[in-house]
Amino acid sequence: MKKSSFKIKEYRTQFIQELTPIYDAGEAESFFYLILEEKHQLKRIDLALHPDLVFSEEEIVVWNSILEQLKQEIPVQYLLGKTSFYGLDFEVNENVLIPRPETEELVEWILESQKSKVESQNIRILDIGTGSGCIAISLAKNIPNAQVFAIDVSEKALATAKTNAENNSVNVTFINQNILETEDLRQQFDIIVSNPPYVRNLEKEEIKKNVLDNEPHLALFVEDNDALIFYKKIAELAQENLSKNGQLYFEINQYLGKEMVDLLEKMNFKNIQLRKDIYGNDRMLSCHCEERSNRI
Ligand code: GLN
Repeated sequence: MKKSSFKIKEYRTQFIQELTPIYDAGEAESFFYLILEEKHQLKRIDLALHPDLVFSEEEIVVWNSILEQLKQEIPVQYLLGKTSFYGLDFEVNENVLIPRPETEELVEWILESQKSKVESQNIRILDIGTGSGCIAISLAKNIPNAQVFAIDVSEKALATAKTNAENNSVNVTFINQNILETEDLRQQFDIIVSNPPYVRNLEKEEIKKNVLDNEPHLALFVEDNDALIFYKKIAELAQENLSKNGQLYFEINQYLGKEMVDLLEKMNFKNIQLRKDIYGNDRMLSCHCEERSNRI
């Protein structure tokens, strides 16, 4: 019996139509091409050059299942199991946050400030709450000879991060540890960086359904009345374990820029710089600590 097939161009029209009540047409179209490239290694240009290309019946079953899941607002990155961050491929799943463009900006900032330093090659870097490993791995990839360490409380997240390090051919030492229960980092680091959970429960309403329903809450949320809990702890550890001239970097909650600066000033951190992301929100911060005496 001859199997039926479907013209890809026609399927595309239907796919976009079915998604447009939920996503705008541009986004729906971008999903289509992302999946086409990932599943069939075909690009937009291939479809233009070969308008008669078809999907087999089996392929349509797969596409329809993806379409259904997109309708339920499951992020396309989880459906494909991968995303790209700072030009590198990362495996992602429900145990890790999908890396965000804001976090790429933080990586860019760190790399920029390293460039000007002569001694930048042999530095030691620690990423706290590494998740998919996106920060640690992109720093390892771009700072040759840096020794990179990464901590996460979630074993499942670390398994994903390890795969990502292998796939990107970098050496990162992963440590399964709860930072809130850590008393001493035991070693000195030249850079400590963290994108810890920072979304307050009171901000839940602002969070999109696709994030809320699918991404790990462990990596996102903090209590309203103790929103800076991770930053306080990490800054305390940094006071002891940041090397002389070492630098601390944070991704932060856009509404808590001032509170973050106050906190770090009180703890006697120096040269505190607050930066906005491409959307104009206070999103990242860097500082260093010169003196070790004035702890709170
Ligand atoms: N920026 C992420 C979001 O908006 C939150 C990341 C985090 O809590 N560290 O969902």
